[in-house]
Amino acid sequence: MPDVFTPAKRSAVMSLIRSTGNAATELRLMALLRAQKITGWRRHLSLPLPPPKAKARVGEKKPRKPRVRPDFVFRQQRLAVFVDGCFWHGCPRHATRPRQNRQFWDDKITRNRQRDRHVTRALRQTGWTVLRLWECALTFKQQARTMGRLRRALGSVERGLQSAAPRSKRRSALLPAAPTHRESA
Ligand SMILES: [Zn+2]
Repeated sequence: MPDVFTPAKRSAVMSLIRSTGNAATELRLMALLRAQKITGWRRHLSLPLPPPKAKARVGEKKPRKPRVRPDFVFRQQRLAVFVDGCFWHGCPRHATRPRQNRQFWDDKITRNRQRDRHVTRALRQTGWTVLRLWECALTFKQQARTMGRLRRALGSVERGLQSAAPRSKRRSALLPAAPTHRESA
């Protein structure tokens, strides 16, 4: 079936879907955090990222310092949590792509994934622990496992702070960030 929208219009429509879609997922996680009495988080706190490597040339305006607003930030534990929509971030299980404008969507989702990786890496460089949760990890069936992952992340960060463990160790405690779907298949 041909798309009823022009690519530009489709893009605008989908960007609206994106914001509401992600908001719904964030609300779900928020409800879970409240239900489990997990506190100490804030939503969309703006965090600085390391400046880009390329130096500004003489006479050029200094580039603005990059920042990111993770979906949830546990500031004390320096844990940033992102809830990634299955469509927009290309979840391996739910990576359906509209048939129309295939190349456009492939490129767009590839760019999103690249940005995700970049942001994760940049935050870790500045001492943050990063937890990325798929939208589908918040379904009723997956909730318990996902909240376990979150608690372990919070716990290992706290232990790491107390024992002053090297950050690489703390990070490896969080890995593998295996997609939770695999076992449920
Ligand atoms: Zn998914």
